Amino acid sequence: MSKPTELTVHTVRSTKRGSDHYGSCEVCGNECSEHFVATNRRVSVRDDGQHILDGGTSGTYGHMHCLIQRFGNLVAQDSLQRDGNVLLFPQWAVDQIMTKSMGARRAV
Ligand SMILES: [Zn+2]
Repeated sequence: MSKPTELTVHTVRSTKRGSDHYGSCEVCGNECSEHFVATNRRVSVRDDGQHILDGGTSGTYGHMHCLIQRFGNLVAQDSLQRDGNVLLFPQWAVDQIMTKSMGARRAV
């Protein structure tokens, strides 16, 4: 199975829909021709050492630049490989988060 880590990441993907469907940007409140959704996900690690992401929370909808402003670095969801329904999170990306947290968290 898998066990949780203390890490969380925001993934982002395009909804391919605009304000006609989702309304205003949730961050700046302006019209948005293409809504992106940022989802906060917990990182877990499987018994085989592979890090995976959970389904996340409902997400925040809005302009890409607004989401980056609010959440900082976002991981493009389309760039992640899947194992069935599970999003796989590569080791280099884990290392990147670890580095950013300035060594406050230990590797699992
Ligand atoms: Zn916006």
